[in-house]
Amino acid sequence: MPISTPAQISFPLDIPQVDVLATEQTRDGKFIITVESRRDTTRCGVCKQEIACKYGHGQIVRLRHLPILGQETYIEIRPRRAQCTTCQHAPTTTQTLPWYDQRSPHTKAYEKYLMKQLIGSTVADVSLKENLGYDAVLGALERQVEDEINWNDVQNLGSIGIDEVAHKKGRKSYRAVVTARQDDGSVIILTVLKDRKKRR
Ligand SMILES: [Zn+2]
Repeated sequence: MPISTPAQISFPLDIPQVDVLATEQTRDGKFIITVESRRDTTRCGVCKQEIACKYGHGQIVRLRHLPILGQETYIEIRPRRAQCTTCQHAPTTTQTLPWYDQRSPHTKAYEKYLMKQLIGSTVADVSLKENLGYDAVLGALERQVEDEINWNDVQNLGSIGIDEVAHKKGRKSYRAVVTARQDDGSVIILTVLKDRKKRR
């Protein structure tokens, strides 16, 4: 192998129930990972029963994900679609997957990562550092507000932290990000509280 060819590594993707169709690195260094869902059912949007995804695919969705080797990384997926044959007018539904929210341009893992970046920082700073729009960071913060805590993920409540994050540009409006440090040193976000007034 020529000396100029870099060594290769491979590692598992941290997203459940998908197959990787392709990976590429763009000229400007971004990683694009194309995946497809392994799940072949979803819940009908009307009657909520599990129905088979046999109605083609929706538009390609590109989701910002955790950085690889410091580079911006994106997951691309064409969501599977399903049609309910028991509901009136046979409505169609796009498959929902647990690792991203259809309203969000980010994976859930990336949104949690953004919350950690926001600790002790501001929305504007994180927007700059992550090369992400101000509204995208703010949107991620808003989606975490009073989101339900999954207590199964919390091993240790011994070290709770509350950090203020400046919310709106030029206004004294804050969110309080509540975190718990785990035994392995990782920090998990418990919740984000609204409208905390900054102390003087
Ligand atoms: Zn239905």
